[in-house]
Amino acid sequence: MKNLKLVARETKARTVVKVSGVEIGRDFVVIAGPCSVESETQLLETARAVKAAGADMLRGGAFKPRTSPYAFQGLGIQGLKILEKARQETGLPIVTEVVDPRDVSWVAEFADVLQIGTRNMQNYSLLKEVGKSGRPVLLKRGMYSTLEEWLNCAEYILSEGNPDVILCERGIRTFETYTRNTLDLSAVPAIKELSHLPIIIDPTHSTGRISLIDSMSMAAAAAGADGMIVEVHHKPEQALCDADQALTPDIFATMMRRLRPLASFLENLPSESTAKTNRIK
Ligand code: PEP
Ligand code: MN
Repeated sequence: MKNLKLVARETKARTVVKVSGVEIGRDFVVIAGPCSVESETQLLETARAVKAAGADMLRGGAFKPRTSPYAFQGLGIQGLKILEKARQETGLPIVTEVVDPRDVSWVAEFADVLQIGTRNMQNYSLLKEVGKSGRPVLLKRGMYSTLEEWLNCAEYILSEGNPDVILCERGIRTFETYTRNTLDLSAVPAIKELSHLPIIIDPTHSTGRISLIDSMSMAAAAAGADGMIVEVHHKPEQALCDADQALTPDIFATMMRRLRPLASFLENLPSESTAKTNRIK
């Protein structure tokens, strides 16, 4: 793809993003937590549960880009302070979204990884700011975007001097309505062909259905994904955001018991396998 300089596969064997001992691009990394931070109890209980089930990082939004202006928009700085508390207690690094270029520098003081949501993938001033933030960036694919457009957005971040970008396939809009979006699993090996950046998947926002999350996660691991980000809530029925698609801690723990053995089985496959070749090179 022309115009891609820094993110192109030809420039580097692979990128491993290191976040407090977690290596994205080497191990299968699981990021779990609620859609949004709602209260200290909600976040801490969820954080303890995902930690116990083996999650590597904690997610939770303090700034929520909502389709409706009347929907819960997040707790802002109060939410970030609660995330900080959860990190202190559990040791899990924090992934949290930033939506406004003016907030990047101070949100970066709380976050271990800055998330750019699907609706902001092509917000170029935001991309430039996170490029200067000194924090790893989780860049979600725009729900209407091609792989080339997505990689160009990663290029913006790298061109500001930040090499630590994790791509996240979170589903694209198609004519299908049974699922919330369509998880483009072929994006995983395709990105591995095109770029050295790690790629994870989001089975929550792509399917929008709890019943499909376990199988899509396993399929993503088999396709060579470097991990996943999934929504878990200690009491999903009370969630202020994305209530229908959050896993309970029990369902999450059950999924992890199936996923971890699969991920280590895949790690040990002979290197001729396409997925393995792509991951190791
Ligand atoms: C989220 O992660 O909660 C979120 C809003 O995701 P997306 O930007 O993929 O819709
Ligand atoms: Mn959500």
